[in-house]
Order: sequence, then C-alpha cells, then structure tokens
Amino acid sequence: MDRLKTPFAYNKHGKVVKAQEAVKNQVYYCPCCDIKMVVKEGTKYRKHFSHPASGTCTSEGILHRIAKNLLLKAIEEDIKLKTDCDICRKSFWKTLPQGTFTKGAEEVRVGPYKCDIVLYSGNEPALAVEIKNTHGIGKKKGKELPINWIEVNASSIIENNTELNPIQARLDKSVCYECKNNLEDPVTKKRISNLVASLSMYSAK
Ligand SMILES: [Zn+2]
Ligand SMILES: [Zn+2]
Repeated sequence: MDRLKTPFAYNKHGKVVKAQEAVKNQVYYCPCCDIKMVVKEGTKYRKHFSHPASGTCTSEGILHRIAKNLLLKAIEEDIKLKTDCDICRKSFWKTLPQGTFTKGAEEVRVGPYKCDIVLYSGNEPALAVEIKNTHGIGKKKGKELPINWIEVNASSIIENNTELNPIQARLDKSVCYECKNNLEDPVTKKRISNLVASLSMYSAK
C-alpha cells in the first residue's frame, strides 16, 4: 500500500497546518488516527505531508475530519452564511452572531437521516451541515430532512471555517441588509402604505 499524501495535518497543538507552511523536521499528526506525519518536498511532488500506509485513513477522510473539527469550532465565533434575499433575490452574507448556535455534534440522526454535523440552538437541532465528500445531499434527503440544512465543500471550510458558502441549501427566508433598510425607511414605508391603500380602494369598487 502506498503512503498517503495530504495537504493538511495537525501540529502538536492540534492546529491545522497547510503543507506549504509546514516546517521540515517538525512533527505533525494525522487528524484521524493521530499517527506522526512528516512534511515532504521533492521535485516530483508539491510539498505535502506523508502518512504511513494505512488501512483506515484516506486523503478524503482526513479532509472530512479536519473540516468537521473546524466547523464545530466555528460556533465560538460569528459565522457568515451565504444565502439569498427573498425580496431582491441577490445572494448576500448573513451574519449569524456568536451564540446563534449553542453546541454542535457530529454524526447525528435527524429524522431518518444521519448528518455529518448538527448545530443546535439551545437543545433544539437548528441546522444540519453535510460536508461534501464524494456524495452530497440527495433530493430525497434534502426534501425529508425536518430541519434547515446546508451542504458545503470540505476544502472551503478548511480555507475559512466561519464563512459558509453552501453548494446547496434549504434555509428559512431571509431579507438582505439593504432590503431591510429600505423597508424601514420612512419614505418607503409611506409609499408602501399609500400603494396598499390605493389597491384596496380599487378592490372595494
Ligand atoms: Zn491517519
Ligand atoms: Zn435584498
């Protein structure tokens, strides 16, 4: 069996390190099995971590593991979630302030489906996150999951764990900050109420 080449590993403090930024002769660890990995750089390959041949670890599994850990950590900070505005239809980054999610758990069963990560609000599951590996959320699962869900790429979480840019999602309706301001603008409010009044005048005839 060949040694695995991976672009990420943990340092001795459990922090994710990119192979490009790794220091030679320092010890790194596999996020899945904790085995020691060393950084390798050659003329044939890009700089990478070398993982001894293993029957259990795979490159995808390691990325998946790191992404899950980083996502569980992200709830200690403000999270930005890309979603669509229900009024102007443009996508925008919605801020979910720290505290929106009170805890996270992995491999949780929601209804009939197991989810990679479930983020909770209090004790209630609030958002299911599927970290895309080889397969994503199928149509049936997407329809039947009883809570909001998003599907994200492992690599994008590793890049930035507090910016979630879903590949696909089912979320509550949202209104972007611009539309919200417009709705709260007194001139717009007056215009809308005049419009509603004129419409009801017509329908009364
Ligand atoms: Zn391993
Ligand atoms: Zn909008």
